[in-house]
Amino acid sequence: MFEYAQRIKILPPYLFAQIDQKKREKLQQGVDLIDLGVGDPDIPTPQPIVEAMKRAVEKPEHHRYPSYEGMFSFRKAVADWYKRRFGVDLDPHTEIVTLIGSKEGIAHFPLAFVNPGDVVLCPDPAYPVYKIGTIFAGGEPYILPLKEENGFLPDFKSVPKDILKRAKIIWVNYPNNPTSAVAEESFYKELIDWARENNIIVASDLAYSEIYFGNKRPMSILQIEGAKEVAIEFHSLSKTFNMTGWRLGMAVGNKDLIAGLGKVKTNVDSGQFQAIQEAGITALSLPEEEVQKIRDIYRERRNAMIKALEDVGLEVYKSDATFYLWVKVPKGYTSAEFVSLLLDKCGIVCTPGNGFGQYGEGYFRTSLTVPTARLLEAVERIRGLKL
Ligand SMILES: *Cc1c(COP(=O)(O)O)cnc(C)c1O
Repeated sequence: MFEYAQRIKILPPYLFAQIDQKKREKLQQGVDLIDLGVGDPDIPTPQPIVEAMKRAVEKPEHHRYPSYEGMFSFRKAVADWYKRRFGVDLDPHTEIVTLIGSKEGIAHFPLAFVNPGDVVLCPDPAYPVYKIGTIFAGGEPYILPLKEENGFLPDFKSVPKDILKRAKIIWVNYPNNPTSAVAEESFYKELIDWARENNIIVASDLAYSEIYFGNKRPMSILQIEGAKEVAIEFHSLSKTFNMTGWRLGMAVGNKDLIAGLGKVKTNVDSGQFQAIQEAGITALSLPEEEVQKIRDIYRERRNAMIKALEDVGLEVYKSDATFYLWVKVPKGYTSAEFVSLLLDKCGIVCTPGNGFGQYGEGYFRTSLTVPTARLLEAVERIRGLKL
């Protein structure tokens, strides 16, 4: 009776609907499912953060509407963390806004800067929100393929002139979901130079900066000279501190970009619960050992899983960040076919690469958010397929 708006009707079909349906059927049949499909940590939020929340929730001053831009004390904690972790100076008054999870900010940001018909350069495969936020703002996503031969980095210099003229924003996300690829300083330098020359906003999604296993820690784009002229960076406490359910993130960077996002937010939400922001301050002030413990768990799982997958003949993309593995589907299958086979024959849920965009075809993504024993059990089931 009530027709959906055009912006909903033009959304790409929900690729996971079929998998979700099958997953429900398997669970009803009593299958012992191993779910490697979601990017949601299984490890609980560190106890000091939970304790801080308990204390904060008791305080009546936190029960009222929070400020739109976030508590100053939280923004100050973000500035201190950025300084400590990246050596980047941020003014908590003008260069930081608190988000209700970074997804919220990523989805709302284009509303502040994209007019109907403007182009947003979106990587593919990618976190789907870049493209969808663009569409909701009336913009046109222009796809930048992420290819293995380029280390899953976008070739932004290949964007045709006429597109470039209409382009407003480019999205980048390293360490990358879903491919796990990492970007180096030289990539960010070229990107910032190019964006300044062409007057394009660089929106960097740094959700996985703390999930790394090598000696070199992933960098913030704001470490690049001149980045603050054109860049905004989205960050989140979700992945670093196992806080996906809490909904707390931040956007930092160029003050005009922050102000634009802030204007949108003032008109659509009323900020995040102050008790959660208080807990967030505790999270950002945790000793590094706490985060290291989390990394160590993922590292063990990662090493075990890569070894096991290779042992059954699967090809894993080698990187040293994120809690995902990006794996090639065996010859003769599409991503969807192979993921269906894993579900039907092995009771394993993985995400088909094309769920992240057309250039994800030929791959599937597994999460490392279950204990090592379960990961190895999954691989034993795959071995039974005799690929
Ligand atoms: C998980 C994730 C986010 C968002 O996390 P929030 O919980 O909304 O802060 C953003 N970008 C990528 C690439 C992610 O994987």
